[in-house]
Order: sequence, then C-alpha cells, then structure tokens
Amino acid sequence: MDRKVRMFGIDFDAVAMPQAVARLLQWSAEPDYHCRYVVTPNVDHVVKFQSDAALRAAYQDAAMVTVDGKPVLWASHLLGKNLPGLVTGSDLCPALFDAAKAKPGLRVFLLGAAEGVAQRAAETIAKRWPWLEVIGVFSPPMGFSALSPENAKVLDMINRAKPDVLLVGLGAPKQEIWVHAMQQQLQAKVALCIGATIDFLAGEKARAPRWMRAVGLEWLHRMLSEPKRLAGRYWHDAKVFPKLVVNEWLSR
Ligand code: UDP
Repeated sequence: MDRKVRMFGIDFDAVAMPQAVARLLQWSAEPDYHCRYVVTPNVDHVVKFQSDAALRAAYQDAAMVTVDGKPVLWASHLLGKNLPGLVTGSDLCPALFDAAKAKPGLRVFLLGAAEGVAQRAAETIAKRWPWLEVIGVFSPPMGFSALSPENAKVLDMINRAKPDVLLVGLGAPKQEIWVHAMQQQLQAKVALCIGATIDFLAGEKARAPRWMRAVGLEWLHRMLSEPKRLAGRYWHDAKVFPKLVVNEWLSR
C-alpha cells in the first residue's frame, strides 16, 4: 500500500506516474467490474473541495488520488509532505495507453467533451495506440449529470460495452460527482476523471507547451486560451489557494 499524504483535507496517494500506471493496469486486468475511480486534484479542485460536500464524498471513495498541477506539488514540498511527482489526468491517459502495449486489447470508453470531440479523440487513439480497443464514445449534452434524462441511456451504453477503462471528461466537480453517484451501477473496471483530456486527445484544445508546464504555468495557458470562461475561476483560486496553504502550514 502506498503512503498517503493528507493536505487541505484530501488524502493524496504518494505515487509517481509509473506506480499509478501499474496500478491501473493491475485493476483493469482483474475480472470484476468494481469501477475503481481516480481523481486528480489541481488547485481549482482543492479550492472547490473546501465548499462542496458532494465533491468531498466523491473523493472519499476514490481508489486513487493523484496530484495534478505544480502549485499543489510545490505546496506538498513546502509543507514537508513531499509528494513524489505530478500525475495529471492529461499525462496519465497517454502514459496508460503507452504501457497498455504490453496488454493489447485494453478496452476504452470515452465519455464527455462537446459533440463530435470524443469521436475525434477516439480516431486519434486508434492511430496512435493501435493496440487499444475504443469500444464506445459518447459526448452527452452540456450540463449532463446523474439527474439528466440521458443518464439511463449513458449507463446502458457503458454497461453493454463493459470497458476496462472509462475516461470521464465532464469537467470538475461534475465528473467526480457523477462517477461517485454511478459507481455501484457502472460496469467498468476503472474510471478516470480527467477534465479536458478528451479535448487534448482530439486536438480540440492545445496543452500548454512543455516549458510552461515545467515552470508551473499550465493554468496561465489554459486561461489565455479561454479567458472569458476561466479568468474568474483562476482569480478566485489565486485568492483562496495561498490561504489554504498558510492554514495548512499553521495547523502542522
Ligand atoms: N464538459 C462536459 N459537460 C459539461 C461541462 C463540461 O462534457 O457539462 C466537458 C468540456 O467539454 C470539456 C471537459 O468537460 O471537455 C472539461 O471541462 P472544464 O474545462 O470545465 O473542466 P476542467 O478540466 O477545468 O475540470
């Protein structure tokens, strides 16, 4: 069992990318459909977590909680908790797909993103990782949740396909809350709550260049690419997150 690191009320798994990928491969090779799910908290999720009881409940039942975003990793170092490295959702998917070459036929289902985008992501996956089987793709209407009229249909599509790995890209906290609400009914071995990763796979949105990621500016790239939607979110996070770090420091 890996070390757990508690910060901001969240129990992070102290895993680096290779261990995270190995765990996913192990879970997806088991015969049962437990629907273990993975969440990858970044600064925005950490901030939302403080005031969203449904998100907190979803995190409680997650099988793996990995750190997404340099500021959260830096905070772990500042607080002496030393998480071993970033395991962002957007990096975890390609790393898992690469590693799955050793287990050809891993069955993947893509849920989320705007209409047509998940389909394009599936086409990219088929070209770049031909050893995977993309067995289903669905982009539900914006605002989709467990209470939407489409929910039964979505559940049925996934359960007929029985994926090894379900990518859920509905945005946070919706994706985490949906997977948590559906966990007992979902016939998937593993679900990954991965935000905009389906957009990145499809080429719909561009990821920040490597140098920006290296210096912790991925958020700035995202904000500049969608300023109207994201500026308010990041401004709020920039005010709240440092306070959370200070409180955590003081409560050590
Ligand atoms: N999204 C969705 N349904 C919604 C809201 C968002 O499928 O009701 C998708 C959106 O198209 C994008 C992904 O969720 O592909 C990530 O959205 P967002 O950038 O808000 O989430 P974040 O990655 O910041 O958590």
